[in-house]
Amino acid sequence: MNKNSLNKALSKLNIGGLRYFDSIGSTNDEALAWAAEGAKDLSIVIADEQTQGRGRLNRKWYTPKDSALAFSLILRPASRSHLSRTVGLAALSIADSCRVLGLAPRIKWPNDILLNGKKTAGILVETVWSGEDVDSLVIGMGINVRKESTPPEDLLQFPATSLEDELGKAPPAREEIILSILNAFIHWRTRLGADELIKAWEEILAFHGEQVQVQAGTGNPITGELLGLESDGSLRLNEVNGKSIIVRFGDVSLRPAVIK
Ligand code: ADP
Repeated sequence: MNKNSLNKALSKLNIGGLRYFDSIGSTNDEALAWAAEGAKDLSIVIADEQTQGRGRLNRKWYTPKDSALAFSLILRPASRSHLSRTVGLAALSIADSCRVLGLAPRIKWPNDILLNGKKTAGILVETVWSGEDVDSLVIGMGINVRKESTPPEDLLQFPATSLEDELGKAPPAREEIILSILNAFIHWRTRLGADELIKAWEEILAFHGEQVQVQAGTGNPITGELLGLESDGSLRLNEVNGKSIIVRFGDVSLRPAVIK
């Protein structure tokens, strides 16, 4: 993968610009800086390796050289509406590209893509504010493509896998995978406000109908049955006492509940 091969693969898309790095700290940091300098809508920062890749709450996201996809899209939304659906838009785009490969992805709400119950991709959405308005959004996506991209188990709290391991054969070139994700993204973006997006997102929610545990901040975890999504993309749970509760985005981690 290099700048030429990427430009060639993405030549038919109407992207705003492309910055390619052999190695970078974090593509989201570069994209946030570029957005602040006025990057055009649908500009892309992509790197072969990230040395300081971030998940939420500054948790580390591993992107070893030559084996993964790590890129950040800059969006210039016209309004603040449907901002909370953006992570779903990104997750569905990655999920669609997995389905094209014959895989069966699930979305671990809000921001991870699972294959066979193992994490294959993660999303980090960050906002550039201009006073009360959203100036731009940066959507970071990290996808484990080749088996070498899967971090060792002792570094993880949740099992991980790669497209190569799940396919059981060599995955397509990373240029092809990013093209497939971006095509899906462009498709879903035009439907950001539509019921169809929530329905498609809900259909592939991991642990749907199962007991899950949600950890928000440092408070006590909430356990309940995962019922589905609200129209803004929030999660709806049914607590053991029958009370229905809505979990909004933010610092929230979801796990299957350990049934004792
Ligand atoms: P959460 O699991 O709470 O949704 P994040 O979405 O913030 O966490 O992702 C960061 C976490 O993902 C890290 O703490 C680490 O356990 C795990 N991780 C980091 N890099 C990878 C990777 N390449 N593949 C799978 N999991 C990873």
